[in-house]
Amino acid sequence: MLGNYTDYLGKYDPDLADAIGREENRQQSYIELIASENFTSKAVIAAAGSVLTNKYAEGYPGRRYYGGCDHVDEIEVLAIERAKELFGAEHVNVQPHSGSQANTAVYMAMLKPGDSILTLSLENGGHLTHGHPKNISGMLYNVAHYGVSEETCMIEYDAMEELAHKIKPKMITIGASAYSRTIDFRRVGEIAKSCGALLLADIAHIAGLVAAKLHNSPMDHADFVTTTTHKTLRGPRGGMIMCKKEFAKEIDSAVFPCLQGGPLMHIIAGKAVCFKEALSQEFVGYQQQVLSNAKILCNELKRLGFKIVSDDTDNHLMLIDLRKNYPDINGNQAQRALDLVNITTNKNAVHNESRSVFQASGLRLGTPAVTTRGMKEPEMIKIADLINRAMLNLVANNDSSQIKEEAIALCDKFPLFY
Ligand SMILES: *Cc1c(COP(=O)(O)O)cnc(C)c1O
Repeated sequence: MLGNYTDYLGKYDPDLADAIGREENRQQSYIELIASENFTSKAVIAAAGSVLTNKYAEGYPGRRYYGGCDHVDEIEVLAIERAKELFGAEHVNVQPHSGSQANTAVYMAMLKPGDSILTLSLENGGHLTHGHPKNISGMLYNVAHYGVSEETCMIEYDAMEELAHKIKPKMITIGASAYSRTIDFRRVGEIAKSCGALLLADIAHIAGLVAAKLHNSPMDHADFVTTTTHKTLRGPRGGMIMCKKEFAKEIDSAVFPCLQGGPLMHIIAGKAVCFKEALSQEFVGYQQQVLSNAKILCNELKRLGFKIVSDDTDNHLMLIDLRKNYPDINGNQAQRALDLVNITTNKNAVHNESRSVFQASGLRLGTPAVTTRGMKEPEMIKIADLINRAMLNLVANNDSSQIKEEAIALCDKFPLFY
């Protein structure tokens, strides 16, 4: 438990402290399978909860618009230098408040309204910021999508290349929120070069794997690499942009003053801690375990009859396609049934989706958070069993309280470390 600050809050603002306490209990007693979530270290939380939240620091280290920035300068430089080392980047901006801000800043730096971008659509695993009509990227730019193969559900690079030559986009984005296979950054880099497009690689989900060198890196192939810091990278909630030196100025001024005001120095400090952790040998071991846990969970679900999109996973996540063996159950119903047995997941659109985004036909599962808790292969097999039984109970309209008890018992064996 995060003793100190909740004690203090408890005295001043019991309503709020109680709600935070209930959230802590939820995190402790639910099996967290949301692929984009994780549990940060206590050191990250300490930095994020520090007095740095008091400081205004518009500008960049050595070039601030406020006095009193000596120490926050030091902190931001630490974060930048560690990120450079971790990913082999020439230039890093650690100020984006989120992954979405990072992507939007790259667009603002390099594109004009009406320019064309070529991206992966949301229903094929892409992200809202990759040109969805309700996102600013879809409002400002002319968006075309490349897709995945009908048979394998894997990105079709040949078709992407053909489309890129036809459209001649100003920028191609590569990266996904719900894509379980290895991305060939070298190939996409060649495609972008061959049609004169800039390349933005968005590694929000796989950044931890890239940092641990367990997924190929886009750094030598993309002009811009964006990421979140809170998914597999296991840092505080935030974003980051890496780019070649030649684009440093445009990127920095797109983040501030174009899109943001004062940076969140407490979060930047948390990012610095996160990068220190990610540079350690333990972190590589953690990411290896994330991968092997995902493999085992995927194989076990397949053995139990679930259909997995693309039939496999190479990374930390997988998508269940419910349409085959649960045609009458949508993703939302499955998500809710699992929530009732203390398993947290999210519904997700799948290729050729026919249901609305509020229903969807897929369920996304990931292993970063359960792996942070220390769960390994036997627990993955147990989790697959719990999911299978909860789904069968949902169809048969049976009571699932026994499954919930087993899920809680599993969580109790792997207490959170706060
Ligand atoms: C999560 C994600 C983002 C955005 O992250 P936020 O911090 O939620 O804005 C961007 N791109 C991809 C591919 C993501 O998965």
